[in-house]
Amino acid sequence: MGISRKAQDTIIMEEQEYLALDHIKKLLHDQDFPRLEGNLAKTPQLRTIHSELKAIREFLSSFSLGDFSQSITVRGIIPEYLKTLQSHLLRMLQQIRMVEQGDFSQQIQSMGEFFAAFNNKVTQLDSTFKELKAKEAALTALADSLRNEVDSRNSAVEALRESESQLKYLASHDPLTGALNRRSFMDRAIIELANAIKHNLSCGIVMMDIDLFKHFNDTYGHQAGDDALRHIVTLISSILRKNDFLGRYGGEEFILYFSQVDRPTCIAVAERVRKAIVQRPVPLKSGPVSISASFGVAMFQDDEGSAERYDLETCIHHADIALYQAKKGGRNKVVCFSKGLDPVSTSG
Ligand code: GH3
Ligand code: MG
Ligand code: MG
Repeated sequence: MGISRKAQDTIIMEEQEYLALDHIKKLLHDQDFPRLEGNLAKTPQLRTIHSELKAIREFLSSFSLGDFSQSITVRGIIPEYLKTLQSHLLRMLQQIRMVEQGDFSQQIQSMGEFFAAFNNKVTQLDSTFKELKAKEAALTALADSLRNEVDSRNSAVEALRESESQLKYLASHDPLTGALNRRSFMDRAIIELANAIKHNLSCGIVMMDIDLFKHFNDTYGHQAGDDALRHIVTLISSILRKNDFLGRYGGEEFILYFSQVDRPTCIAVAERVRKAIVQRPVPLKSGPVSISASFGVAMFQDDEGSAERYDLETCIHHADIALYQAKKGGRNKVVCFSKGLDPVSTSG
C-alpha cells in the first residue's frame, strides 16, 4: 500500500520546513555565509529572512571590527536596537574625542552602568585638571612676585651702584670745578709714573697758579672768582689729550700730568694752555674779564746729561720752583725747571 498524495505532500512540506530552519540556523551560527538555493530560494519569506539576516550579519561584522560608520537599511526591532547602539557608540566616540581635547565636562548618560567608569574617570580628570590649573595660577603668581622681588632688588642694587659711583666721584673730585682733587691726582700720578718707568716713557708735571687772583676776587666778587676757576678748568680739559690729567692742587693752584712727552713738548703744551687762558677771558655776567696764569714745568727724568729719574714729590717740588720763577719773572709765563741754575724762562 503506497503513501497517499496528501501524506507525500506533508512529508515534502516537513522536509522543506526542516531545510528552511536549518538554513536559518546556519544564517545565525555559521562562520561562512550560507547560500540560498534550490526550492528554498523560491520561498519569499525565507528570502526576506535570508537577506535581512545577511544585512544584520554584515552590519555586526563591521561593528565587531570597530567600524561604527556602516548604515543598516533593513527594518525591524533588531536593526532598530543596533541603530540605537550605533548612535550611542558614535556619541561616546565623539565625547571621548572631546575629552581628548581637554573638555572634561563630558558625561555619558545613555549607556547606564556600562560607562560609569568612564564618567568617574572624566570627573577625576576634571578635578585633577582644575587642581593643576589652580596650582599653575599659584605658581604664576609666585613667579610674578619673585620677578617683582628680583626687579626691585636689581633696582636697589642699581641705586646702590649709582650712589657708590657718585660717592666715589665726590671723594675723588673737587666739588667746585670737577677737576680731580689733590689726593686722587696724586694716586693716579703714582700709577701713571710707575707705568712710565716700566716702559721707559718720558713724562712731566706742570704746576699752574692763577695770577693775581686775590685781586680778581676783590674786584669782581668771590662768586665771580668761582666762575673763573670753573671756566679755566673747562678750558684746560678741552685742551688736554686723553692720557693727560688735571688736578686742583689747592686754592687757585692746579697741577697737570703729561704722559709720553719730552721736555720741549711739555713746555709747548703748557704754553698752549697759557695762551688759551689769556685768549679766552672769563665770561662774567657783567662782561668778559681777562685773566692769566703762571706755569712751572718739570720732567720726571733728567735728560740734561744724567739719566736720573725723580719721584713724584721731587718732580712737584721742581715744578714749584719753576712756577715761583715764573711769578718772579713777571707772571703769565711758562718756566721749565733746570738743575742748579736759574730756571729757564720760555715765554712772557
Ligand atoms: P699770585 O699771582 O702771586 O698768585 O697772586 P694771587 O692773588 O693769585 O695769590 P694769593 O695767594 O695772594 O691769592 C690767592 C687767592 O685765591 C686768594 C683766595 O681767596 C683765592 N682763592 C683760593 N681758592 C678760591 C676759591 O675756591 N674761590 C675763589 N673765588 N677764590 C679762591
Ligand atoms: Mg695766584
Ligand atoms: Mg697761589
